[in-house]
Amino acid sequence: MSAGTELHALGVADAARALRERRCSAVELTQHLLARAAAHAGLGAFLAVNEAAALAQARAADARLARGDAGPLAGVPVAHKDIFVTDFATSGLPSTAGSRMLAGYRSPFDATVVARLGDGEPGRGAGAGMVTLGKLNCDEFAMGSANENSAFGPARNPWDASRVPGGSSGGSAAAVAARLVPAATGTDTGGSIRQPAGFSGVTGIKPTYGVCSRYGMIAFASSLDQAGVLARSAEDCALVLSAMSGFDERDATSAQRPPQDFHAQMLQPREGAGAGRPLAGLRLGLPREFFPAALAADVHGALRAALAELEKLGATLVDVSLPRTELAIPVYYLIAPAEASSNLSRFDGVRYGHRAADPADLLDLYKRSRSEGFGAEVQRRIMIGTYVLSHGYYDAYYLQAQKLRRMIADDFQGCFRDCDVIAGPVAPSVAWKIGEQADDPVKAYLADIFTLPASLAGLPGMSVPAGFGAHGMPVGLQLIGNYFDEATLLQTAHALQQATDFHARVPAGF
Ligand code: GLN
Repeated sequence: MSAGTELHALGVADAARALRERRCSAVELTQHLLARAAAHAGLGAFLAVNEAAALAQARAADARLARGDAGPLAGVPVAHKDIFVTDFATSGLPSTAGSRMLAGYRSPFDATVVARLGDGEPGRGAGAGMVTLGKLNCDEFAMGSANENSAFGPARNPWDASRVPGGSSGGSAAAVAARLVPAATGTDTGGSIRQPAGFSGVTGIKPTYGVCSRYGMIAFASSLDQAGVLARSAEDCALVLSAMSGFDERDATSAQRPPQDFHAQMLQPREGAGAGRPLAGLRLGLPREFFPAALAADVHGALRAALAELEKLGATLVDVSLPRTELAIPVYYLIAPAEASSNLSRFDGVRYGHRAADPADLLDLYKRSRSEGFGAEVQRRIMIGTYVLSHGYYDAYYLQAQKLRRMIADDFQGCFRDCDVIAGPVAPSVAWKIGEQADDPVKAYLADIFTLPASLAGLPGMSVPAGFGAHGMPVGLQLIGNYFDEATLLQTAHALQQATDFHARVPAGF
C-alpha cells in the first residue's frame, strides 16, 4: 500500500480494488484488522474472533487473486452479527444470539448469508470469498434497541463510549463505525439495522422481506426478520447485499426472483438526470406523522438540512401521511413477542440450549433451564407472546394486531401513489447513555416508532448518515422504498453521499 493509507481506512469497494491490483494482500489486511479488533476490544463489538480460521481464508483468497479466478469481494473482511450461525468445524466460531442459552453453541452448518459471502454453499456454487473476521455482539435474540440486552455485556458507541451504539445489531454498527471491519451483517425485525446504523453514523440497509435467506439466522419473529448490511457507504452496502441475497429453497419465505446486482442498479443514471441533478424526477414523500412536535430539535435540524441537499440534487419533496404510525408500536409489540414465544420454545434444555444442573424432575429441568438461560427482556417477551396467543385473548390481541398490520401496509401503498421514496428520521433522538433506559423497557419500545411501520409492511429501508446532533452524536436519515425497489433507495443514498461527507467522518480515536 502507498504510504499514508492505513488499511482500516479502506471500505468494501476500496479494499476490493486494492486487493485486485495487488496493492495489499488479504493476509495483510486481515492481520491488520485482527490486531485492531484486539486493540479496541473495550468497545465490546466482537463476541468471538478466530485468527487462525480468518488467516486461512485470507490465504485462500490471496491464492485465488493470484490465479485471477477470484470473485469481486475476495479477500475483503466481513464480520457477522452473532445471530447468523457459522459452521464451527470450519470457522471455529460459536453462535450465541447474544444469549446465555446458547453460550458456546457449535453450529454444524453456515447460515446461507454467511456461506454466500464466504466460501459458498456446498454443491451450490462459489461464494464471494470474503474473509470472516468474527462474530459481533447483539441484543439477546435480537430483542432490544441498545445492545444492552446482550448476555455478554454491552457494545459501546465509538462516537462516545458512554453511549449505546443502538441495537439490536449494536456490535455490527460499532465495528463498522470504529473501522474495525469494512462491512458487517445485521438483522432487522423492527429496526435493528437502521437504528444502530443511525446511532453510530454508518450506512445500513434492510432489504424487502424475502430478499435475503433466513436459513441459519436464529429466529426472533419469522414474519419480520430480515438480513441486511451495515457499511460505510451506500456503494459498499450494495456490493455486499448483492453477494448475500437471492432465492434460497431452504427458506420458504425467500422471494423467487433472479439474482440482483444492486451496485450496477444503483449506478444506473435516472431518466432525466442531468449534471449535478442525479435525483431529477425523484419524489420524496415526507409523512407528517414522522415529523411530530416531539421530534428532538437537533434531529429535526439535521434532517431538514439533508432534505434540502436532496432537493438540490433534483428531488421534489411531497407531503404524505401514514396515519397509523403510532399504532405500529402496539401492533409490533404483540406480533413480535407472539412469534418469539413460539420460536424460542425449542430452547428447553433438552433439544437445544443451556441445561440446568441436577434437575429434580422434568418440570424443574424446563423451568430452571429457561430461567437461567434467558435474560429478563427475552423472558418478558415470551410471557407477553404466550399471553396474547392464549385461548380467549387470541382474537382480542393477536388477530386485531394482524388486521392493523395489513392496514399499516396499505397506508404505505397509498403513499407510494404520490412518491417514490419515503424519508424521515430513524429515531426520535440521538443515542442515549448506557443504562439510561435500562429499567424502563417501554421507553425503548416507544423509540422504535419510526422503524416499526416499514418492518410490519415488509418494505426495504435504509439509514444514511445525515449530520450530527446533540453531544456531537450522529443523526440518521431513514429512507423507505416500495417492495423490491432497493435500487432507488441506494441511488438516493449514493447521490447524497456524493454531495456530503457525513458517512466518511471517523469518530475521534479511530
Ligand atoms: N427494537 C426492536 C425490538 O426490540 C427491534 C429489534 C430488531 O429489529 N431485531 O424488538
